[in-house]
Amino acid sequence: SEGIKEYIKKTPKSKEFSEKSSLIMPGGVTANIKFFEPYPIVMEKGKGAYLFDLDGNEYVDYMLSYGALKLGHGHPKVLQAVQNQLQDEGTMLFGTPHKLEVEMGTKVMELYPSMERIRYTNSGTEATLLAIRLAYGYTGKYKIAKFEGHYHGGYDQVLQSVNPKVNDAGPANNPIGISESRGVDPYIAEQTIILPFNNLEATIEILTKWKDELAGVILEPIQGGFIPADQDFMDGLRKVTEELGILLIFDEVKTGFRISMGGAQQIYGIKPDITALGKVVGGGFPFGIVGGKKEVMDISAPSAFSDVFDSSQSKHSNAQDVLFHSGTYNGHPTILAAGLETIAVLETEIASVFENTEKLKKGIVELFASKSIRAQTIGIGSIFNVVITDLDEVKNYRDLQQSNFALRKEIDYHLLVEGIYMKPLNRYSLSTVHGETEINRTLEAYETVLNKLF
Ligand code: PLP
Repeated sequence: SEGIKEYIKKTPKSKEFSEKSSLIMPGGVTANIKFFEPYPIVMEKGKGAYLFDLDGNEYVDYMLSYGALKLGHGHPKVLQAVQNQLQDEGTMLFGTPHKLEVEMGTKVMELYPSMERIRYTNSGTEATLLAIRLAYGYTGKYKIAKFEGHYHGGYDQVLQSVNPKVNDAGPANNPIGISESRGVDPYIAEQTIILPFNNLEATIEILTKWKDELAGVILEPIQGGFIPADQDFMDGLRKVTEELGILLIFDEVKTGFRISMGGAQQIYGIKPDITALGKVVGGGFPFGIVGGKKEVMDISAPSAFSDVFDSSQSKHSNAQDVLFHSGTYNGHPTILAAGLETIAVLETEIASVFENTEKLKKGIVELFASKSIRAQTIGIGSIFNVVITDLDEVKNYRDLQQSNFALRKEIDYHLLVEGIYMKPLNRYSLSTVHGETEINRTLEAYETVLNKLF
């Protein structure tokens, strides 16, 4: 493709570096998702809304580390909060409870009232993993249902039908589970039931069939962060899971603090039983939060004081009755300081990010329309995707597969050349430091690219 050729011309140092780094890390990456053809750009510096690569090229960054950086790169207030924390206490990894854990918990529970108790993890993956164990532990059932096209992390139970080939994946209303990696234990894969997103009737049918074995349903309330569940679908899903004794798990790793302070659950007015958070709330550091109904979360309470005090007060007769959750770095103070500062900044600035996102979405659609190309900018809040499609509405994974990925990809490579950073085919996320200048620059780049191609 012409786009890839120009990309290679513009990024010789990234190419050279990638050749060397693949002798260190398979594929030259430390996370498969960071790879794209022919090689990923190697960045050297990030500042505000901008990234700078090894060749000295400057980019407006719309990846924002897969949506994690909602204040942009190196926000002064976050840097200050981290510095204060480090200066006062070193890395302060006490390995004991501490005040910031409660401060963050209080804040999160205020913004997410469904989270009556919380625990911390070190990533979104760990958060959904704990959420699923809680569902198993609470219900005593050992299957989990997830939706086709939804991503919850890279472990066996959920690395099913995230991005399957449609031809292999069975009928749209009764999808087959497809493992997305070598080495996924087929026994565990079989315990995962796949559901069709935004199809309530089919979802109810499948859930009803498996109700005696299903511990929970996990979903991205907004698929991929940009395809919203219909309100009716969400209401119906909440109702049927309640009726069938299946826990409803919202994976808000992407949507939490990004589409609204209170996540998708605030927008839909739905109380899930368990919620997983991550990304933005870590302030740029590895972090996750799991929270939910008190009665569910409390099964992870170790036998309180039983060693020291009266063991008859213990809720659990032996250790096996407790749901085990641990982690050396859980509740890391430096991360909590960064996260708390991030929340504080967002509380005053989030509305402006939404306004700017709308401006950019509108501008992009207009530019496509000027070339008579049917394209949509789909999403809520500060995240969206550009989908080139003849469909009037994109409701789920199968709809998305019908879009013109080839053209979108070609545009993305040309945009990279024009200084707009977006891993080809990925979503756009905005931050508090993406302002008018960046938006205008982006729309100009779009115009240049579309003029070149059409
Ligand atoms: N859940 C969702 C919805 C995500 O988007 C992601 C990451 O992209 C994860 C879970 C996994 O989070 P992490 O990459 O922090 O492990």
